Amino acid sequence: MSLKINFSNYENIVFFTGAGMSAESNIPTYRGSGGIWHKYKFEEYACQVAFDRDPEKVLEFHKIRRKAVLECTPHNGHHAIAKFERSRGGVSIVTQNIDGMHQRAGNINITELHGSLFRVRCLNHGTHEDLGAFTEFKCSCGQYLRPDITWFGDSLDQGVMEKALSLISSCDLFISVGTSGVVWPAAGFPEIAKKAGAKCIEINPEPSEMSYLYAETIQGKAGEILPDLLL
Ligand code: NAD
Repeated sequence: MSLKINFSNYENIVFFTGAGMSAESNIPTYRGSGGIWHKYKFEEYACQVAFDRDPEKVLEFHKIRRKAVLECTPHNGHHAIAKFERSRGGVSIVTQNIDGMHQRAGNINITELHGSLFRVRCLNHGTHEDLGAFTEFKCSCGQYLRPDITWFGDSLDQGVMEKALSLISSCDLFISVGTSGVVWPAAGFPEIAKKAGAKCIEINPEPSEMSYLYAETIQGKAGEILPDLLL
């Protein structure tokens, strides 16, 4: 990796992360070989219709996913971004991941576009709660609490989307890590950053659908590139 960035030239830096950010932590992917949707049908486990039909089954599936994620640990790339955020102001993460790895590494300014495996919400009240307090997965109103993540067929949370768009359209450096650029609306973020005048850098072992938009593409793994880049 030969690219060196003078970070003092940039005021607002956004790291935009996807499933590839967690690959070296061994978090199971969704697609590809070994992906979750090869083993489980999303129609049975990851949509509102499935939850309405059999909430216990869907909740059990998410319990298994949480357990799998908690058995993994953040890698050197996660730690490098966390150290970088501690070292200066103006650093934010916009992540498509629901695995909580950036939090576990110590980052604070995190916008979770697709929610979190570690929160639940009540469809009657619309409240979002950390999972910690719940063992029964029932709200005081009697409603089952559903995982606070974006399932198939769900819309993105409007407030979260607005926050992400505001960060991205006001950043001057946009660093994308481990995203294929095929899942919308997040796939449109590099173009928004570029149009707003940000320098856009991509970190990915393979070219993505959106590689053509980036000023620089660093070909490699997040856990190897980030510690070196953010030194
Ligand atoms: P994706 O699976 O479509 O693409 C992953 C990208 O990461 C690919 O371009 C791949 O080349 C790259 N990659 C693989 N290993 C890498 C590494 N070591 N370092 C850097 N890049 C690497 O993922 P996506 O673009 O995030 O979209 C899939 C959707 O599924 C998103 O909504 C995502 O949040 C969700 N998802 C989340 C998790 C999680 O929370 N960890 C896991 C799987 C999928």
